[in-house]
This record gives sequence, C-alpha cells and structure tokens, in this order.
Amino acid sequence: MYDTTMYALGAKRSAIRALFDYGQEQAAKVGKENVFDFSIGNPSIPAPNCVQDEIVRLAREEAPAAIHGYTPAPGDPVVRQGVADYMNQTFQANVTGNNFYMTCGASASLAIILRALIAENEDEIIVNAPFFPEYRVFIQNAGGRLVMVPPDTEQFQLSMTGLAEAITSHTKAVIINTPNNPSGSVYSADTLMKLGELLRCKSAEFGHPIFLISDEPYREVIYDGLPVLYVPEFYKNTVICYSYSKSLSLPGERVGYILVPNEVDGSREIFTAVCGSGRSMGFVCAPHLFQKVILACQGKTANIGIYDSNRKLIYHGLTDIGFQCVYPSGAFYLFVKAPDGDANQFMENAKKLNILIVPGDEFGCPGYCRISYCVDPDMIRRSLPVFKQLYELYSHV
Ligand code: PLP
Repeated sequence: MYDTTMYALGAKRSAIRALFDYGQEQAAKVGKENVFDFSIGNPSIPAPNCVQDEIVRLAREEAPAAIHGYTPAPGDPVVRQGVADYMNQTFQANVTGNNFYMTCGASASLAIILRALIAENEDEIIVNAPFFPEYRVFIQNAGGRLVMVPPDTEQFQLSMTGLAEAITSHTKAVIINTPNNPSGSVYSADTLMKLGELLRCKSAEFGHPIFLISDEPYREVIYDGLPVLYVPEFYKNTVICYSYSKSLSLPGERVGYILVPNEVDGSREIFTAVCGSGRSMGFVCAPHLFQKVILACQGKTANIGIYDSNRKLIYHGLTDIGFQCVYPSGAFYLFVKAPDGDANQFMENAKKLNILIVPGDEFGCPGYCRISYCVDPDMIRRSLPVFKQLYELYSHV
C-alpha cells in the first residue's frame, strides 16, 4: 500500500521539531515569557533591507512571468552568473554560472548531490560527528551507507586520525560542515589543508576520487574576525552545498545552490548527474522570485553582530553557573555537556523548567545538548536564573 521506509520516516518526528511543538503548546498554557525555547535554528534577526527592497522593486517593476514563472531547471542563467561573479570577486573561485545549480536550500542541495554521486549500494559517505541529523535521511534515500567518525569532544574539531581510519575503498564522499551545527566550531585553513592532504593520499591509494561535500549554510555566520574560507582552494574535488537560509535569514523561502567547480574530476558529468538527480526528485527550479532577491543581496548578511552578542551572553552566563562547553566560533549553537553525562535526562530536567534544549544523540554525540541562541537576547537573560536552578539539580555530581 505504501513504502514502509517512507512511512517510518514520516511517523518518526525529529527530536528538534517535537521540542519546538511542545514549546508552542507550553507557551499557550504557562505564557510565552515562561518558556525558554532554545530548540530550533530559526534565524531570529530580520533579513537585511536589501531583501525587502528587492522584493518590492521586483513586484513593482517586473512582469509576473519574470519573477513568478519557471526558470530553467538549474536556475535563472543571470542569477547563476551573478553568483559566480560574486564568488570570483570574493574567493578568486574561477567559476561561471554553468557551475551552479540553484536549489531549495542546503537540504535540497545535499539530497541532490548525494543522489547524484552515490552509484552503488556499497558506496559509503563519511560524516563527522556531531553532524546535522538529516544527513542520515539524505544518504539513506540515495542508497548509500553512512559511516560516522566519532566526535572530538575536547575541541569539536575534525579528527584526522578518525577520518583516516574511516576511509575505505568504498568511500565515495566525506561531508564537512563548518561553521558547525551543533558545536559552533569552525575549521581553520590549517585543518582544511590537512584534510585536503589526507583526501588526496586516500584517493591515490584507492585509485578513485573521494569527493568532499562542504555543507555551508553558516558560511558567513562567523565571529572574532575569523576568515571565511573557500574550501575548494584546499581540495579540488570539493562540491559546495550553500544556502541563504541563515546568512540572509530566509529559511522559509528555500533558496541555495550546489557549486561543482571545473576542477572537480568529471565536473561536467557530475553537474549533469546533479541535473538528473534534481529532476528525479521533482525539483523543477528553485523559487524564481527569491533567486532574483539573492542576486541583489550578494555579499550582504543579516546583522550577525546580534548573534555574536547572544553567543557571549549565553556562553558566559552558562559557564559562570558551572556548565561546560566549548566557546563557539560560528553558527548560532552552543553544545553543552550534560553534567552527569546523560543528555536525555538533562533535556527532560530542563523541560520540566520549561527550558527546551536538544540532546546530542541524533547528532551522533550523546552526552551533550544543543542550545540554539538565535533567539531574543532578553529570553537568554531571563533564562539564566532558571539554568542555575537546572544546574543545582546536579549538585551531587
Ligand atoms: N545543513 C546544516 C548543517 C543545517 O544546520 C541546516 C539547517 O539547519 C541545513 C543543512 C539545511 O538548511 P536549509 O534550510 O537551507 O535547507
């Protein structure tokens, strides 16, 4: 009657969504001001002005078909070339519009590229814990096998030894995500250099390219003046999955891209497979209006400084209480250690105090909980005494 795998997927709610829904129900019962919802990564700051200005301008000046009609499946050629120009100016990327496939956000980018690359049932995709839980779904849907590199809970950096051990003759690709959800860690140029070296060595050893999929929805959400890096510079077989969900605060508008640079082995064939994969999943074209909007907003971001001050507020607030966590350098998440190591009980204890945080199990990192600080700073301030109450439950630890 129906596919049981898809049924199971539909029936199993994501822990994040379940908590978010619970928060909405609790707010109706006890008042919004008494619920401290740190569950979901929904940008809390408005999109930059260029977004609204361009929406208004396009609606007034353009013919409906030019903003609401279909574009070619890989996207509006003018938009793709405009994004390429921006990448060339910013990163000396040496790309053209033909290297870009516009998508409905990073989720679509990942689902499409994985379906395009995974050719055989034994193809393995390596993910580095902690990782975005939807990778499991996209890899499974593409017929691949997920191989997890255990987390480095000291710094939440990439474990080169773990990665070297995980790569086999079946490895098709490695996914990285920097700045990282859920740890907030950012990989340095040195780390990416070592990663490139390792992947070149392993590709040579096994006689086929191991692709690097760089999942970059938080590329510009980075602090302390750290540089925004262009990952293909460190390893040529890199495909970028980008999204405007976070940088422009547009998660509901569903717009992003896949970038397959010419330097990637079999670049044109892979790009063609991306087109086929998108087609097979029914992605006819990314939303036309928002393709045009992001074109006008290249190089702009929402006010990331607000996340930065939230970061300091929550990090110092929680560590002053006694909680342990690594200081995040990017994205808008803090990954806090459960005082007694049991993250699910920690989440339940927090929930009783109306603090909603997400256990790290789904991210491949038990023992930690994710706190999304893309929230109203006032909520963070009001939550700190309640976090203190939560910490006191663990005074015996
Ligand atoms: N990858 C990571 C690491 C994410 O955190 C998210 C969203 O939170 C996505 C991909 C999906 O983003 P999008 O909204 O662009 O589909």
